[in-house]
Amino acid sequence: MLAEFEILSPANLDEALELVASDATGNVRPLSGGTNLVVDLRAGGEAPTSLVSLCGVAELRYIKIDDGRVSLGAGTTVSDVLKHRDLCTLAPALAEAATVFAGMMVRNTATLAGNLCCGSPAADLMPPLLALGAELQLASKAGQRVLPLDEFYLGFKNNQLQRDELITEISFPIPPKGATNAFYKLARRKGDAITVAGVAVAVEFDGGICSAVRIALGAVAPTVLRAREAENILIGKALSSELIAEAAAQAIEESSPIDDLRASADYRRHCVGVLTKRLLTNALELKSQGNQ
Ligand SMILES: Cc1cc2nc3c(=O)[nH]c(=O)nc-3n(C[C@H](O)[C@H](O)[C@H](O)COP(=O)(O)OP(=O)(O)OC[C@H]3O[C@@H](n4cnc5c(N)ncnc54)[C@H](O)[C@@H]3O)c2cc1C
Repeated sequence: MLAEFEILSPANLDEALELVASDATGNVRPLSGGTNLVVDLRAGGEAPTSLVSLCGVAELRYIKIDDGRVSLGAGTTVSDVLKHRDLCTLAPALAEAATVFAGMMVRNTATLAGNLCCGSPAADLMPPLLALGAELQLASKAGQRVLPLDEFYLGFKNNQLQRDELITEISFPIPPKGATNAFYKLARRKGDAITVAGVAVAVEFDGGICSAVRIALGAVAPTVLRAREAENILIGKALSSELIAEAAAQAIEESSPIDDLRASADYRRHCVGVLTKRLLTNALELKSQGNQ
């Protein structure tokens, strides 16, 4: 049964921040596309008395590519990402996550901020955005702060967002020339399925050397995480199949998956190794072909 609640409809960000700041009891929650929150409400897992709908806050929905950064308003939908050709070219990892995200109806309303806040380790936009080095802009009536996405989660469904704050923007540096980024979602079906294991990688090269790399793992730990030790194996070295195999084995060590109805922990660990190796090998091949 759906608990009773009211929906507040601010017309702009200031009004929205005012409404979330009025939350003395913890019973006011922001609502974006509702594709997580309303499902949770129906399941009885949430009991807010007021929802602050951000649907009418037009200033939260934009995609900008300038000044060396890609900036995405918190209310950007998954479909907005897919429709933006330049964004998809610069950030194929994000485009791939959007392509395999739910079905068309959900993509049309599901937002970036909602996906990052839902707390699921299987949230599909998290690994690509982590690999792209994303930062969050958080706003409250008191002001704004910027937080690297890889510091946002403190543990399972536990993030750094204060009760009076909203995510307003997600941004990341435009990948430099010659860099590659990619994501692969492994699930039991191609569409509308919860991720069994997801891996995103972003690699930068300086000549033949890997100058920077980020490897993000989804659905294989309490939160999406960076495989930092695996990254350290690659940084400052010329990538080879041996080195990639070593990094993939290390990524497995950094995962801590569970058994559930979708897959066993052992299978998930195996997938982390296979996908990390595959994506890094593809990055190396693209680099060798010189066609990134
Ligand atoms: C049929 C179906 C299929 C799905 N498939 C996928 C899938 O393939 N991959 C996947 O990752 N997810 C999937 N989801 C889950 C969901 O669609 C996504 O997590 C989506 O991105 C959530 O965004 P939303 O705008 O709907 O968030 P909402 O449900 O509106 O909110 C989610 C949470 O974020 C908070 N929030 C929202 N906006 C803000 C903000 N600006 N600042 C602070 N807090 C905020 C809310 O208070 C709430 O806690 C699916 C859901 C359904 C129902």
